[in-house]
Amino acid sequence: MKKKQKMQKKAEIKSALKINFSTDWKYDPAPESADHIKLEKKYDLFINGKFVAPKKGKYFETINPAKETKLAEVAEGTEEDIDTAVRAARSAYEKIWSKISARERGKYLFRIARIMQEKARELAVIESLDSGKPIRESKTVDIPLAAAHFFYNAGWADKLDYAFPGRKAHSIGVAGQIIPWNFPLLMAAWKIAPALAAGNTVVLKPAETTPLTALKLAEIFQQADLPPGVVNIVTGAGATGAALTRHPDIDKIAFTGSTDIGKLIMKSLVGTNKKYTLELGGKSANIIFEDAALDQAVEGIINGIFFNQGHVCCAGSRLYVQESIAKNLIRKLKDRMETLIVGDPLDKNTDIGAINSKAQLEKIQSYLTIGIEEGAQRFQPACDLPKSGYWCRPTLFTDVAQSHRIAQEEIFGPVLSVQTFRTVEEVIEKANNTPYGLAGGVWTDKGAKVFSITSQIRAGVLWANTYNKFDPTAPFGGYKESGMGREGGVHGLYPYVELAS
Ligand code: NAP
Ligand code: MG
Repeated sequence: MKKKQKMQKKAEIKSALKINFSTDWKYDPAPESADHIKLEKKYDLFINGKFVAPKKGKYFETINPAKETKLAEVAEGTEEDIDTAVRAARSAYEKIWSKISARERGKYLFRIARIMQEKARELAVIESLDSGKPIRESKTVDIPLAAAHFFYNAGWADKLDYAFPGRKAHSIGVAGQIIPWNFPLLMAAWKIAPALAAGNTVVLKPAETTPLTALKLAEIFQQADLPPGVVNIVTGAGATGAALTRHPDIDKIAFTGSTDIGKLIMKSLVGTNKKYTLELGGKSANIIFEDAALDQAVEGIINGIFFNQGHVCCAGSRLYVQESIAKNLIRKLKDRMETLIVGDPLDKNTDIGAINSKAQLEKIQSYLTIGIEEGAQRFQPACDLPKSGYWCRPTLFTDVAQSHRIAQEEIFGPVLSVQTFRTVEEVIEKANNTPYGLAGGVWTDKGAKVFSITSQIRAGVLWANTYNKFDPTAPFGGYKESGMGREGGVHGLYPYVELAS
């Protein structure tokens, strides 16, 4: 073939391969039915195996952030309610849970896991209604993983001697557990399951904006005949959590939430005998080398930051792209962002659901302005947003400097900052240059590069050629201001036992 013909052929192939992302076809709505779910109008506190009214008689509303409509009223627990719950947990610990055999404990956990699986669809719909997350995620990630944490820890209950070979594991007593709103049922499961497996009892404080699945879990505990007082659930706001951390008869605090509140809790525990684990914020780096499979990397980046509206502690919110491929990769990323569907969390086609609360939306929006003020270039696809509810378009910032606030601070929303790098040394320095150290990702064709880089990045979890993958057998936790202690895996049992030789 002559040179001219060759070039013409090439141009034809190129144009045939060019996908027009701006086509105006749309998916038909595919809403998940919510007819089968059972929600009470009003929820009391779950103490000593029963739902009881809060002592001060106060209730607050939990809303559906996609519609700004009330879902239910929920009891606001006070210091007195926390005290009643801790007493119930102590009594259950001394009289029942520390006395029954480990095998029996395991059976309860297996039973709870199985009922969660039976009720998976109802739990998924309630999770999406209360938190705003897409039903696809609640169904395939949150609820199955929550059940898997109970299954996994059920298996350990009578095998603690194998978890800690040569040592004897004793339970520690009553655990106070405080969880955030981004993975409400999953966070409850990953805290309650290891505590119970190791023989402790629990008082749990769910997040104010997402209490419903924890209360449904309380109904599951009743159905599973879990002895009264073994798990108590006291709903409320920050003050309820603070009362729990202050209570003198708590042996261990497990907190997941922001670094600011984590620091407050840590200070309040100084001088007490309470053990504690803190799972805090993050600003994780997702690193793309020129030898990576680019289309897969694009999916990984999208999943890393836009999964669950970026309400993920380990979200890959800082993207580092090797300079030689930056232009190509960013173009692919923008094209892919154009196809993302933002909208009804109950629609199975939705990629990005509602932002969890008005306050969180305002926080994210403030960073959208801060980024521009700092001199970065902002890109958002032109997707439609619903009229009511709290929504944020997926956002990408380029021309970002390492010192920018959008590259240093946790935004906790669907906002990605992009920087480039030339060498391995440069990207490691940049990746480590934040106060956080929770997670990160590396995309490359070379296994040796993966091992070399992941061992130099100071973060608790590092994914290679994938992102945001979780498993109950794998430990999770942070370096630096991302927290202390590990949850998940055998490591997750350590904070709930006292080891003797
Ligand atoms: P948050 O404001 O720190 O709240 C977390 C929990 O603590 C909520 O239940 C909250 O109650 C309660 N709380 C508030 N003030 C308290 C106090 N003074 N004493 C005791 N408890 C108190 O965090 P968030 O906004 O819910 O969650 C987002 C944060 O969690 C992000 O920073 C994210 O990175 C982090 N996170 C970390 C992990 C991890 O594993 N490392 C996992 C998920 C999330 P209210 O809901 O009523 O405020
Ligand atoms: Mg809600």
